[in-house]
This record gives sequence, structure tokens and C-alpha cells, in this order.
Amino acid sequence: MAQYANYINGEWVHGASASTNINPSDLSDVIGEYAQADAAQTDLAIGAAHHAFGAWSIGSIQARADALDRIGSEILANKDALGYLLSREEGKTLPEGVGEATRAGNIFKFFAGEVLRIRGEKMASVRPGLEVEMTREPLGVIGIIAPWNFPMAIPAWKIAPALAYGNTVVFKPAELVPGSAWAIADIISRSGIAPGVFNLVMGRGAVVGQRMINDRRVAAITFTGSVATGKRVAEGCIARMAKFQLEMGGKNPLVVLNDADLNTAVTAAVQGAFYSGGQRCTASSRIIVEKSIYPRFVDAVCTQLAGLRVDHALKKETQIGPVVDQSQLEQDLSYIEIGKQEGARLQFGGERIQRDTAGFFLTPALFTDCSNDMRISREEIFGPVASVIAADDYEHALALANDTEFGLSAGICTSSLKYASHFKRHAQAGMVMVNTATAGVDYHVPFGGRKASSFGPREQGAYAAEFYTAVKTAYVAA
Ligand code: NAD
Repeated sequence: MAQYANYINGEWVHGASASTNINPSDLSDVIGEYAQADAAQTDLAIGAAHHAFGAWSIGSIQARADALDRIGSEILANKDALGYLLSREEGKTLPEGVGEATRAGNIFKFFAGEVLRIRGEKMASVRPGLEVEMTREPLGVIGIIAPWNFPMAIPAWKIAPALAYGNTVVFKPAELVPGSAWAIADIISRSGIAPGVFNLVMGRGAVVGQRMINDRRVAAITFTGSVATGKRVAEGCIARMAKFQLEMGGKNPLVVLNDADLNTAVTAAVQGAFYSGGQRCTASSRIIVEKSIYPRFVDAVCTQLAGLRVDHALKKETQIGPVVDQSQLEQDLSYIEIGKQEGARLQFGGERIQRDTAGFFLTPALFTDCSNDMRISREEIFGPVASVIAADDYEHALALANDTEFGLSAGICTSSLKYASHFKRHAQAGMVMVNTATAGVDYHVPFGGRKASSFGPREQGAYAAEFYTAVKTAYVAA
């Protein structure tokens, strides 16, 4: 069986142990054995990144830009093979996998350009004879802790800016998706960057992740994952005053008003709630519908859902792949039971199904007659499960949309400019979508949320500089 090693200080090194990577569409398909680092190996990677920081942070920005550009080009040239690996390992469909690989490549290209746009400012001082300069400096070693649901795009949107702004990296992918992480590391290893600038340390969160959080040589931690883990990351970073950034869960509302174009609204709901198996932090898990169109809307959603094929992620006809693993499947099924016990009506799906291959297949579950207080409407399920909640009018819909501890993405379907504009202004979310799904974002603009969904500066686009650099103010006597 193929063995895949960690990448530390420019070398491929086997881990203290290894874990088997299995295809969730076909449990007989083993992708490979991936290294699992222990604490000592994590320390080596942190040490290598710490040592490499000096030269990298003051090195040629042309060389930095060229390296990122080469990484982006190689990802784009191999997007089909990378997308195939991603879908095989994570379970999103092949077009979604190839789309994500493409996005990862574009992100590296974007930050290759950003290297050349790092700028400062100069101002007159209020004190005569002085000038003031504001510049941005790299932080040092960045510890990257990533989730499994976007195994190429999220690492890319953390690794690329970290390197672009002159930091070095220790990257810990999620346990379920080492294959995508390894493939990206393999490409980075050929980009010409010096040993130690980028390190891949596959392994368990409680071991590798926790070690990075505790180590004083790691200047900052960027984390994407669940709220529970995010809180642990925050506590560890606060304890030693390290900089950190958290991107966490969502319970994203999609408001559908009675003046909405029905096709647009149904497509936005189905895509936003169920594509990628609903395993997106931006998934529309609460669909808030004005009463007068509620029955028509639900009928139309059910008709679209009935036409979706749930099957092996790599089959051409599949629109929804498996959920990612046994424990996610159990979580989804247990919330479906909770929904029924809470009195919601399971209007469609929610059944474990068998296909030609043994995999974690679950039909999309649509609950109607939901209240916003039910657990299925408040807690992140992270699977193909959505609640439809009735609203009396726009004001009620907006209040329901904002009545959540999360605040990542919020959508509205309406033909009214007045309501669309009001919603853009008043939705308590980091991202607002008008007449389009709550999930699906560009790679060159800020990504992030409010409330329990995010903590710290935005990711992506030029705004990423806020996290990956420190501002310095220098006073110079003329
Ligand atoms: P998770 O919190 O279980 O794991 C995330 C990462 O943290 C993994 O790499 C894991 O190994 C690591 N980890 C676990 N315990 C740790 C510890 N004690 N110390 C340090 N690291 C530790 O999340 P997941 O199941 O991989 O991902 C799903 C979650 O991610 C969902 O809640 C989803 O909403 C969220 N997510 C958020 C965004 C966003 O940008 N807001 C994007 C994608 C996913």
C-alpha cells in the first residue's frame, strides 16, 4: 500500500505511526497510509520553521512571488487529478472536487501578486521635524489547523497568505483528509522555497495541534473547524498571548419572501442546503419562508430533491456524494431523530441508503413545520439536513434569521429592492447573499463571519494581511 510521509525541513519523514485513509463512497477503497506525527516530530517541524523564518522573511520578494506562482500553476495544471483525489477522499462530487482544486490554484496565484503589493504609509508627524512611517512585517511561524470539508481550498487560503507576507508555516490538516494535504505539500516541495519554510505535519489534533498552540516559537495560529475546538484553540493561545484567528460553524438562514422568483429560491435552497452533502460552514441549514408561499415552495423543493442522485462521489450522474465518515453519519441520523421527537415533520429523505459500493450514503433530509427554537434549527448538524421555518412577513423573517448564535452567511430571495437592501444592511452575518445560495464564495474577497462563527480578522483577499502581518509605526527625525 502507498505510504505518505510528513514534510519537515525540506525532507519527507515517516511518522511515529500511520493512519489508513478510506474512501467514504467505497469503504473497500484504501487511498493510502499517511504518517501520524507525535509531539517530538511536531517540535522538529516547529523548530525548522522557526529557523527558516529569518532568511525567508527578508529574502527576495520576487523569489517569493515566483514560488507562489509556480505552486498555483502546478495546482491548476493538475486540477483534474487533484479534484479526483479530493472527491475520492472527502466525498464531494467530482465537479465540486475539481472546482475546489481550481480555487486552491487561483488562491496561490492571487497571493503571488499580493507579495508585490505589500505597502506601507508615510505621514507627517504632528511634531515638527519628524516623519511617521507605517509598515507591515511578517509575524514568524504560523501554525495552520484545518478542517476536513474543504481539504484544498482552506489550506490554500491559509498557506498562501502566510508565505506571501513572509511567514513560515507548520500545516496540520484534518485527520480525515491527509491525501489532499499531502498532494498540496508535494507541489509546494517542488516550488523552490528553502527547507523549513513550509512543513506538513499530519497527525491528531490533540497531539500535533495542541503542541503548536502551546509552543512559544509559533507566533500565530489560524484555525478553521468546530466551535468546541475553536474555544480550546483560543484558550491555549490566550494563555501565552499568541495571535489567533478562528473560523467556525454556522446555522445560516436563507430567507424566501413571497415576491421571490420561485425557481431562483428553490435552486438557492437546494444547492445551499444539500450540495457537498450539506457539509459546508456556509450551508443554508435554516430556510425561512413567508407563509403565503410556504406550501408551494416546499413542494417545489421536494420535487427538486427527488431528482437528485445520491451515490459514489466519482460517478458522473451523482449530485450528492456520501457524508464524510461513520461518526458524521451517526450525528446526522441522530439529529434526524431529534427533529422528529421535537415535532418537526420529516418532509423528505433522511434515510441511510445502499448503493453498489458500501459507503455513507444519506438522502437529503428536509424538515418542515419547524420552529427556530428546535435543536435542529439552532445547532450545527453539518450534514444534508435543513429546517424550513415559517415567517409572517419580512420583519419576522429578518428577526428569525438573526436569532442564532452564529453569523457566517445569510441569504435572501426576493424581487424587492427595498427588502434586499434592508437585509444586506441588517443581517447579522459576515457575508450576505441576494438571490443566490448562502454557500459559494469568490477567492479574492474577504471570507468570515460574526458572533460564534468567527473570531479575528477576515481570511482571503487583501484583507488577509490583517492577520498575517504586524503593523509597525516608526518615527524618523528628518
Ligand atoms: P474540528 O474542530 O473537529 O477539527 C478541526 C481541526 O482541529 C482538525 O485539524 C483537528 O485535528 C483539529 N483539532 C482537534 N482537536 C484539537 C485540539 N485539541 N487542539 C488543536 N487542534 C485540534 O472540525 P472539523 O470536523 O474538521 O470541521 C467541521 C467544522 O469546521 C464545522 O463546524 C464547520 O462549520 C467548520 N468550518 C468552518 C469554516 C469557516 O470558515 N467558518 C469552514 C469550513 C468548516
